[in-house]
Amino acid sequence: MNTKMQAAFRPSDNLRRILIVEDEIVNQRILARYLEGTYTVIVASDGAQAMEAIHTQCDTISLILLDLNLPDIHGLEILRRLNADPVYAGLPVIVMTADSDAELECLTLGAIDFIPKPYPRQEIVLARVRRIVELSEDRDLLRWTERDQLTGLYNKDFFYRYAAKLDDYHKELKTDALVMDINHFHTINDRFGKSTGDRVLQRIAQQALDLVRSSGGIVCRSEADTFFIYCPHRADYNQILEKMSVSINEDTEPENRVHLRMGVYPDADKGLEIERRFNRARMAADTVRGSFTNAIGVYDHSMYEAELFAEQLIGDFPSALREKQFSVFYQPKFNVRPDTPVLCSAEALARWDHPRMGMVNPGVFIPLFEENGLIQSLDYYVWSQAAAQVRTMKEQGIGLPVSINVSRIDLQDPLLIEKLRGIVEENGLDFGDLILEVTESAYTEDSRQIVERIRKLRDLGFCIEMDDFGSGYSSLNMLSAMPIDVLKLDMQFIRSAFQDQKALHLLEAMIRLAESIEVPCIAEGVETREQAQALKQMGCDIIQGYYFSRPLPAPEYVRFVRERQAVSPGIENCIC
Ligand code: C2E
Ligand code: CA
Ligand code: CA
Repeated sequence: MNTKMQAAFRPSDNLRRILIVEDEIVNQRILARYLEGTYTVIVASDGAQAMEAIHTQCDTISLILLDLNLPDIHGLEILRRLNADPVYAGLPVIVMTADSDAELECLTLGAIDFIPKPYPRQEIVLARVRRIVELSEDRDLLRWTERDQLTGLYNKDFFYRYAAKLDDYHKELKTDALVMDINHFHTINDRFGKSTGDRVLQRIAQQALDLVRSSGGIVCRSEADTFFIYCPHRADYNQILEKMSVSINEDTEPENRVHLRMGVYPDADKGLEIERRFNRARMAADTVRGSFTNAIGVYDHSMYEAELFAEQLIGDFPSALREKQFSVFYQPKFNVRPDTPVLCSAEALARWDHPRMGMVNPGVFIPLFEENGLIQSLDYYVWSQAAAQVRTMKEQGIGLPVSINVSRIDLQDPLLIEKLRGIVEENGLDFGDLILEVTESAYTEDSRQIVERIRKLRDLGFCIEMDDFGSGYSSLNMLSAMPIDVLKLDMQFIRSAFQDQKALHLLEAMIRLAESIEVPCIAEGVETREQAQALKQMGCDIIQGYYFSRPLPAPEYVRFVRERQAVSPGIENCIC
């Protein structure tokens, strides 16, 4: 950054605040008189007052002028405290002393310069003060790149480096890795606007800083609403989180409260890379995702085993793909609007026939592969298999479409549209032969860009099903503007609706919502005749679930279709 730009970033002199820490009134007066025309002066008469001023105003203090002989805390001790705390270590301190023997120790503790006592002439004091303020502001500009602009906390890279340094200094100290975030943070931005969201993040940053201030440690904002804390081990996180929640929700209506969530990896293994320690804390936090009763997850042995298992699956993935251990099952969907349900399409679902573990459920490996991007190659494989299957069936006179799952990760791929177009064309299909199931969270997660991509796919002629509807937080407004042809209700609704009256009303409301935006509605996970009938009565259009059939391997699926064709020739009336 050039000097002109730096100058533009600087506040004018009289906005800069200088903290004078000095117990003798005469000295206070002299210094204040020297400085007052040029700077704003704050005076602390003892160590306690000084620490209080630093705690509350450190962001706006440009310089500290520190006397060593104070009535309560020794000036050296103040220096030591400032130096030990990453938040304050950057505050420039000029020591005022008549004792030149103390200088070396002061320098080691981070003092930047000295002013002898009795004080020299005003011009000399002013010149020194000005030089140090400027020097440290230059350094701050550099440091700013280490910091998150919104909260002033460290950014993740710097935080990791700092954590490694802390480990070096305190090898024996038990240390905890914590991840903290907010349940459904994006709804706060959606409902109250970005500036409210920003304020919430700043409050959380403040709370996290208070925590490390009292117990040592460091904190950073890793991304969006996620904060990392690395601090000496303690066992009272329940109380801490409770206290933080109270402060953050001060003057907030009950229905608008922010719910914090914390993952703790206690006494983190220092042999592990720092990033992995925080991955563990995040795993722990994920165990309480969406739970309002439990806000803290602690990393434990079962998570360790799950981690090992996950590592094994990830390691096995490339050879599994090469050796075609993945296959595609098809689960039929029925149009229940006619008196007799009519088979209308099927969902392609991945299966992994693992050589040692047997059939592994996609509920286990899909989320894992979403985390590290492997999902893209798996999905490409599944889509290609499904497209080839549709082609074979078409050649045999079966014109049923198949839906494929498109993960939110796939949607971030700029080549997605070309890939899908390629698959359709290579197999000589029409776009309408494939339905794309896109999970609701992919729409709400982030960006216009993703919605645009879905819109383009729809314009090409793909039918778009919004999957797991109700698990995210789409509003009616959002829904009507989204490119959607079918709403597929989250299975959880069906599950709970038949156990509890309130949930049943919710299910009805969801079906009405689909009606109001004029798209057909699919219920999946339907296991019994009663469920199927009730759903039909509520106005649900399509049903998928064990009641009709489990997901079937391709040959069995073809047999299943043929049997239905024999009894019901209207089979190909797909509604979307
Ligand atoms: P999903 O897309 O919501 O798929 C429905 C899941 O419900 C399937 O589980 C299906 O077997 C199961 N299911 C269907 N009917 C019933 C029922 O009546 N009762 C019960 N208990 N379960 C039923 P599956 O095949 O284990 O898949 C789990 C999830 O994995 C899927 O949820 C989907 O999100 C993901 N998935 C599966 N295959 C793929 C794929 O090829 N690509 C991607 N990206 N995701 C996939
Ligand atoms: Ca699906
Ligand atoms: Ca689903």
